[in-house]
Amino acid sequence: MLVRSPYDGRVVGEVALADDEEVERAVSAAHALRRAAIPAHVLAGALRQISDEIAARADEAAAILTAESGKPVQWAKAEVARAVSTFGWAAQEARTFSGELQRLDTDPGGVGRLAIARRAPLGPILGITPFNFPLNLVAHKVAPALAVGAPIIVKPAPRTPLAARFLAEIVAKTDLPDGMFAVLNVSNEQTIALVQDPRLPVVSFTGSVPVGWSIRDSAPRKKVILELGGNGAAVVCADWRSEADLDWAASRIATFSNYQAGQSCISVQRVYVDRSLHDDLLQRIVAKTEALGTGDPADAATQVGPLIDEDSAKRVEAWVEEAKADGARVATGGVRSGTSYAPTVLTNVPDNAKVVAEEVFGPVVSVFAVDSTDEAFAKVNDSRFGLQTGVFTHDLQLAFRAGRELEVGGVIVGDVPSYRADQMPYGGVKDSGVGREGVRSAMHDLTEERVLVLTGV
Ligand code: NAD
Repeated sequence: MLVRSPYDGRVVGEVALADDEEVERAVSAAHALRRAAIPAHVLAGALRQISDEIAARADEAAAILTAESGKPVQWAKAEVARAVSTFGWAAQEARTFSGELQRLDTDPGGVGRLAIARRAPLGPILGITPFNFPLNLVAHKVAPALAVGAPIIVKPAPRTPLAARFLAEIVAKTDLPDGMFAVLNVSNEQTIALVQDPRLPVVSFTGSVPVGWSIRDSAPRKKVILELGGNGAAVVCADWRSEADLDWAASRIATFSNYQAGQSCISVQRVYVDRSLHDDLLQRIVAKTEALGTGDPADAATQVGPLIDEDSAKRVEAWVEEAKADGARVATGGVRSGTSYAPTVLTNVPDNAKVVAEEVFGPVVSVFAVDSTDEAFAKVNDSRFGLQTGVFTHDLQLAFRAGRELEVGGVIVGDVPSYRADQMPYGGVKDSGVGREGVRSAMHDLTEERVLVLTGV
């Protein structure tokens, strides 16, 4: 299968599709390792080695990401740095992750007894990943799996399979047994067969909402973790009004509605700003959006590159045109050229327009004036998605209220929803998914408690 650059269509690599025999080899190898009980120091050492090796080959890794996904090289470098950190955290967590000791002599029948509750891997994992972070999202599956000693098979997105192959080369150099990590480039039909294979009791999927939930439906008795899409919102409250406040909010909104050309599950798609600040903030967002460098992703100055393919750019264009027909105004952008779509700011957009209510997954943000925080929070919650929300406020009470009332997996106070770090839990509610990533949270989700009761101790 040829891999092409989304920017200029040139061939940037080739991967072999796995036939059923290769799939069977990978699954039976993973299954054979299900009770391997690899010592924690071996797991931690391998994870440290993977982290170091990615760091040593960072430029090569970034070039792969830019070539296959069209992401600007500066964002590609940031993604590689994240993968280094993800494996680094996993190395650390692998050393401390264990379980609990529970005394049982709290009841007469428990005298002389002790329970040891270990967290044991549920079994070999199938990871299915999307195109937008071809290295990081694979790292988010592989690092916690290896940290708990679980074998993992990854099926990467067909448009961006090169980063997963790069990672597999690095893992192969560690002391981990063969079969602990495999990458399979397979069709949708083969993927579903893997999803239903009882030897892979855990499926960890990152991707779009309809595919994710249909995968869960096709394996109702398995543990299925879903990290899906969203229509991320930022709320700018009335107290966020100094010159520096507005400048920071505008700069973060302009950057993070357009990074990855908007193809991030937590990019800023909706902005609800207090009416007293609306015109000023809008002007700043537009100015900062217009200042973003666009074009060749291999150019160090480029901040916004192409979308993954022309169909995606055409879909974004169609959604903006539809919103315009319903009364939306284009403050800047709104133009497509091949696979690229200009960074776009919209106002006066109806709440039910697709660019607001669905996941736009393109460089488009809609800005709304609101009369109160109540109204802003109600608008954020009026969505079938719920990944993260950014709330710009200095008010601690309001920050806690946001944490309680917003129906999302995470609230980022003083910044956009696009902030994510691998030592914190990350995931969605409602249609945006089920389960949590972040190294430690994922390790928790990939294991279950197994209890050993000792009598006469
Ligand atoms: P996608 O759902 O089309 O594909 C994801 C994976 O599923 C790919 O490997 C793909 O080949 C596979 N797949 C697609 N259709 C399939 C089918 N019918 N049967 C079996 N496998 C199938 O998603 P995408 O377009 O690659 O990625 C974009 C989506 O991913 C967006 O919705 C985005 O929000 C989401 N995403 C979520 C997170 C998160 O952490 N929540 C992170 C990144 C991306």
